[in-house]
Formats: sequence, C-alpha cells, structure tokens
Amino acid sequence: MKKPRAVDPAAAKKAILDYCLKKGSLAAGIADIAAIERIAPAGHRPKDLMPRVKSVISLGVGGQTQGAWSVPSKALGYFGSTETRAYKIAYGLAFMIEQKFGFRSIYCPPDMDPDGGPRVPLQSLKLHAELAGIGARSLAGDILLHPEFGYMYFASVFTELELEPDKPMAENPCPAPSCVAMYRSIKRTPCMKFCPVQCLDGEVGEDGKQKVMRYDMAACSEMSQQYETVPTRIVDAIRAETEAEREDALFDPDNKMLWYKVSAGSGGWFAQCFECMRACPIATKAPLADPLLRGEALRAAAEKKAAE
Ligand code: SF4
Ligand code: SF4
Repeated sequence: MKKPRAVDPAAAKKAILDYCLKKGSLAAGIADIAAIERIAPAGHRPKDLMPRVKSVISLGVGGQTQGAWSVPSKALGYFGSTETRAYKIAYGLAFMIEQKFGFRSIYCPPDMDPDGGPRVPLQSLKLHAELAGIGARSLAGDILLHPEFGYMYFASVFTELELEPDKPMAENPCPAPSCVAMYRSIKRTPCMKFCPVQCLDGEVGEDGKQKVMRYDMAACSEMSQQYETVPTRIVDAIRAETEAEREDALFDPDNKMLWYKVSAGSGGWFAQCFECMRACPIATKAPLADPLLRGEALRAAAEKKAAE
C-alpha cells in the first residue's frame, strides 16, 4: 500500500467540520475513539467494523420544521424523521476525505447487525455523537439533546486519518428548569407525562439533575410501529381459521395502511410517535431548534452587524 499523504491534522479537522456545516449539519465533532472502544460492547466497537480506523466523526442535522409540531401524530409519523439528510452528508464526507486527504474512510452504516437481530445496531451512532460533544442523554429514553439545537438526527464517518477528538458536553440541558419544576410537583417530567404508552419513567435528584432514567423500549416500539408489525399481520393471516378472519388480518383498514406504506415507500413505515419530543421544551424551544428560530437568529445577527 502507498504511504499515506502528510496532512496537517488541525487543518484537516477544520476542513471536515466545515464540510459538515456547509452541507447542512447543525453540529459536528470528533469522538474519542479510545473511549468508544472502551464503552461499546465487543463486536460493536469501531475497530470491529474497520480495523485501522483512527477517527470517528459524528454530525447532526436538525429535526423537523416548527410547523411540524402543530400537526397530529398521524401526519408527523410520515415526515417527522430527518435522519436521511444526516446519512447523505456522512456519505459525501467519506468520499471527500478519501479524495482530499487520501485516507480510507467509510460512511458508518446506521443499520442493524445481521448477527444481532433487529434491535442491535452495528454501531451506536448515539454513543459517537455523545462523545463527540454534540448531544447529551435525556430522560426521554436517552434521546440526545443539545442546548442550542434541540434534538438532532446523527450520522457517523470512520476514517484512517487521525484527528484530534472533542470532549463530551460539560452540561446536560435535560431536565430543563420547567421540567424540574413539574417533577417537583407531580413526580413526572413532560416527556414522561405525555408519552401515550407511559414507557418513560425516572427520577430527578435534589440537585435538579437526572438521577434515574427508565425506558420501556418494547412499549415504545409497539407504539412506534416497528419491524415486527408486518410479520405479525402475515402470521395472523396464515393462522386464520376462516376466510373472513384471513381477510380481516390482511384488509382491516389499519393493516391496509401498512401495505400502503410499504408499497408507496413513504419512509413512514418506521417512526417514533414523537409525543415525548413534542412535549419537550429543549426539542421545541431551544434557541436554534427549528428553521423558524434559526432564521430569526440569523436576521437578528445580520441587523446587529449592520448597526455596528
Ligand atoms: S416515541 Fe412515543 S412511545 Fe416512544 S417514548 Fe416517545 S412518546 Fe413514548
Ligand atoms: S421533556 Fe425534555 S428536557 Fe424535559 S425531562 Fe423530558 S427530555 Fe428532558
């Protein structure tokens, strides 16, 4: 193999993070690879996927528009997730690093490990983002939150180019002060209170910080219509004892929606129900949480500059 090109790591890191922001990320950072190797379980460490990996780059894109929070769950379930935008940027970044710096790179697959089943990802993009300092674990099932950008969707790139790691966020924005106040009064925070299947639970300590977080993933998955839904309907149809029951299993209006989503490829087959994030003050009211707020901030900054 050819000798790798000499690269200024600080300049390379700047070019890489600038690329992420220019392409639409709200935040990007480098995760400490030694920490990921220590924390992630065997088989799910970066070196298990790419043996010579030296750096893990994590980037986050914003959630939906502010208007999205005004629609009911049945609509938000179709378009609430914006993760494919993050994947697109990461995919391009891997190409950019190879071409510009000459080091092997990959778009880290956000997908499930075929050896581990449908609940075990190949890699934890959440761990990468947390260690890269672009999100902190919340009481809403560990969804990462950012004090400026609210909740984001994440993607990662692995590269053999060595880059200086960033640090995790020093402060966790969750629970927000209003959530602590609600917890003191009813022993629940907004995400816990408004989860339709009550799959979130936890405790806020005397110091106003997270003490315990409990998340019933199975209940959330059922609500969010996950991988098992379609096979379950098919099994129901196979096991039906009468023609009428079989028709019900396949053509019941709720079940017909599944065939619609599969055949129309709407991207809404899997989705969270979003009610925990709809109730979350960080997700909905962080200063740069949505395009409306970001536009206002940009205009205010431009006006301030013009007045100077
Ligand atoms: S996505 Fe829905 S079901 Fe899952 S934790 Fe949030 S509110 Fe509860
Ligand atoms: S509503 Fe948001 S900020 Fe408040 S406790 Fe839940 S996740 Fe944390």
